[in-house]
Amino acid sequence: MSYNLETPKKFRVLSEQAHQVALEVLRPISRKYDEAEHEYPKELDMLAALIDGMNDSGATSGAGASGVRSSVSKETGNRNGSNMSSALGVMETCWGDVGLVLSMPRQGLGNAAISAVANEEQILRYEGRWAAMAITEPEAGSDSASIRTTATLDGDEYVLNGEKIYVTAGERAELVVVWASLDPKQGRAAIKSFVVERSNPGMILDRLEHKLGIRASDTAAFRLENCRVPAEDLLGSPEIDTKRSFAGVMKTFDNTRPLVAAMAVGVAQASIDFTREKLAEAGITVDYDRPVHTQPAAAATLVELESDLEAARLLMMQAAWMADNSKPNSLHASYAKAKAGRAGTDIALRCIELCGSVGYDESELLEKWARDAKILDIFEGTQQIQQLIIARLLLKKTSADLK
Ligand SMILES: Cc1cc2nc3c(=O)[nH]c(=O)nc-3n(C[C@H](O)[C@H](O)[C@H](O)COP(=O)(O)OP(=O)(O)OC[C@H]3O[C@@H](n4cnc5c(N)ncnc54)[C@H](O)[C@@H]3O)c2cc1C
Repeated sequence: MSYNLETPKKFRVLSEQAHQVALEVLRPISRKYDEAEHEYPKELDMLAALIDGMNDSGATSGAGASGVRSSVSKETGNRNGSNMSSALGVMETCWGDVGLVLSMPRQGLGNAAISAVANEEQILRYEGRWAAMAITEPEAGSDSASIRTTATLDGDEYVLNGEKIYVTAGERAELVVVWASLDPKQGRAAIKSFVVERSNPGMILDRLEHKLGIRASDTAAFRLENCRVPAEDLLGSPEIDTKRSFAGVMKTFDNTRPLVAAMAVGVAQASIDFTREKLAEAGITVDYDRPVHTQPAAAATLVELESDLEAARLLMMQAAWMADNSKPNSLHASYAKAKAGRAGTDIALRCIELCGSVGYDESELLEKWARDAKILDIFEGTQQIQQLIIARLLLKKTSADLK
């Protein structure tokens, strides 16, 4: 397999536009919605309409259900489609504000889940709608196979019962992709995802969480009480195929983990760019033509952080590229998520060290980026879970062999 490590030419305009959005729209309201937790960031409605316009014109494609179109380059045979464009867009906008990006209408993690698992008819049906994703339960976090929410077929509807917590954009999205078991006795293979209208009376909002970071993003807890969902809203196949086990719903993560990695790269890049500026103001600049050990310690540290970030960025792009080119990417999605999740937090905190009180102080956004970065090493599978998945895949062990 050979890789071109440059940003695909056709996405350069998208990246530049996303960067401008981060700079001119997101950063100016970043502190406001960090302080006003749970307040709806109304400024995002106009921005989302603009992104919809760009999607309709074919200029870009979001993380959404609409984003499955892609084209193959005649020269290289490479396909750069929605996974890559979403990752690049998310990376640049998260340079502005991760919490606001997670609140962007119609660009939810549930949309990427729909792209991964839905059939063609469903993809068209949910196109343009904003979807959150609900896997986690009070008794099932990292071990998503142990979820207790059930889905029972009753005529041409499924009846969902259970509890879901920590649903990002759960209050604001129009749809929630809910994981539930068709038959708990049959284990992982019976877990399916269902698209539930947020307005469904059987889906009851319990509370919104107060958090360390991404405070602009709403995080909801729900009860599902006899929540009736039309049978055609089960994503993919209703068959319980014990040979494929968990493979159906788990495909969700192949699409969403590169995106979370992209978020971490964006926030780490923001931290490094800010720190570079502050060091320059203090008279310290990196000379890339000289060995680092001959330069001030702060300059050498910045180079170290930049190389860590570059490794995370390349792994993220590789995982997104593989998804666009229909190459199995579970291993690479976990590489990307593990590396970028850890690097995001490490880099932001080390930038605070380099900047001193300016980094810790609320007069600048760096302290906020360090708080925002932490979640990216937790949701969509923690650091430890990514390492476990990588070990299983490399050693060809099952989840029963290696826990
Ligand atoms: C702000 C926020 C937003 C979220 N958004 C969503 C969302 O939109 N949708 C959704 O479904 N969920 C969401 N989550 C939930 C998130 O995915 C879970 O918190 C995460 O999967 C970890 O689960 P847990 O919190 O139950 O921790 P636990 O699973 O209890 O883990 C606790 C610690 O033990 C470690 N650990 C667990 N198992 C192992 C193991 N086998 N080996 C080694 N270490 C292990 C973990 O890595 C972690 O460090 C969100 C969470 C937060 C905080």
